[in-house]
Amino acid sequence: MRVLITGGAGFLGSHLCDRFLSEGHEVIAMDNLITGSTRNIAHLAGRKDFLFIWHDVTNYIYVDGPLDAVLHFASPASPVDYLRYPIQTLKVGALGTHKALGLARAKGARFLLASTSEVYGDPKVHPQVESYPGNVDPIGPRGVYDEAKRFAEALTMAYHRYHGVETRIARIFNTYGPRMRLDDGRVVPNFIGQALRGEPLTIYGDGTQTRSFCYVDDLIEGIYRLLMSDFADPVNLGNPVEMSIKEFAEVVNRITGNRAGVVYEEESRIEGDPQTRRPDITRAKSVLQWEPRIDLEEGLRRTIEYFRQRI
Ligand code: UDP
Repeated sequence: MRVLITGGAGFLGSHLCDRFLSEGHEVIAMDNLITGSTRNIAHLAGRKDFLFIWHDVTNYIYVDGPLDAVLHFASPASPVDYLRYPIQTLKVGALGTHKALGLARAKGARFLLASTSEVYGDPKVHPQVESYPGNVDPIGPRGVYDEAKRFAEALTMAYHRYHGVETRIARIFNTYGPRMRLDDGRVVPNFIGQALRGEPLTIYGDGTQTRSFCYVDDLIEGIYRLLMSDFADPVNLGNPVEMSIKEFAEVVNRITGNRAGVVYEEESRIEGDPQTRRPDITRAKSVLQWEPRIDLEEGLRRTIEYFRQRI
C-alpha cells in the first residue's frame, strides 16, 4: 500500500509511520509542525519508501501518484495545546478533515479518522460505549476540540454514505508512550517530568477524576487492525483499566522513586474536565480481536526511559 498519514510527525502519527513501513508499505507523512516535530521521524530520513511533506492540511492537499489509504491524525490533541491553538484545532478538525476526505475520494483510497473519547465530553454513561452520543458543551474551553472531532466524524460518515468512500473511525482514549512532548501539558508527561526532576506531582482538582491509559504500541496495533477491517462505524480504542489521577500519581512516584509527593492545584483544572473516562472495548474485541497487552507499569517504564534521556 501507499499511505498518507496527516500529523505524521506527531506522537501517534510518527508511530504509525514506523508501523506501516515495518509492514512493507510506502509512507507519506504530512505535518505543519505546530505541535509535531521532525525529531519524531528523523530516523526515517533518506529512506526510499518514506517521504515527508511540510503542509497545513486545512489547505488543499496535493499528493502525486496513487494512494491506498489516508490516515487523518493531524490535530493538536492535548488540552493545553488545543487551548493554545483553538482556531487551528477547529480548522484542522473541520477543514482539514474535508481536505483529507476529498483526497481519499479522488484517489479511491480508504480513509481513517483519528477521533477521540472527547466526543463523549464529560460523560453521563460509564464506561463509554460507542452508542453513547456524549455530553459536550460547544462553547466550553474544550469545545474547540470536541466539536471539531464530532464534526469530523459527521463528515466522515457523510463521505461514506453519500460518496461511498471506505471509511473508519477510531475513538482514541488517553494514550501515552515515547515521543509525547515533555511539555505538551498532559498528565503523563507532566508527572514523569516532575518525578524525574524530583518535584511534587501537580494534581489538578482533588484527583478523584479517572482516566484509563493505553500504551502507544497497543493503540497502534488497534489502528492498524481497524484500517484493515471492513467496519465503518466508530470503534473505541483504549485501555479499560481505570484509575483516579491521585492513584496514577502514586504509581509514577513509586516507579520513579520520587519522594517529593504531590501538590493539589484546584485552580489548574480546566472547566469541563471529564470526571470519569473508561472505554467499553467490547466492539474492538469482537470486530478486531483486539485488546491492550501492555500493562501500566511496563508502559510507564518504557516511557520514563524515553523521557529520562531528554530531561
Ligand atoms: N492533570 C493533572 N495534573 C497535570 C495534568 C493533568 O492532575 O499536571 C489531570 C487533568 O485535570 C485531567 C487528567 O489529569 O483530569 C488527564 O489530563 P490530560 O491533560 O492528560 O488529558 P485529558 O484526559 O483531560 O484529555
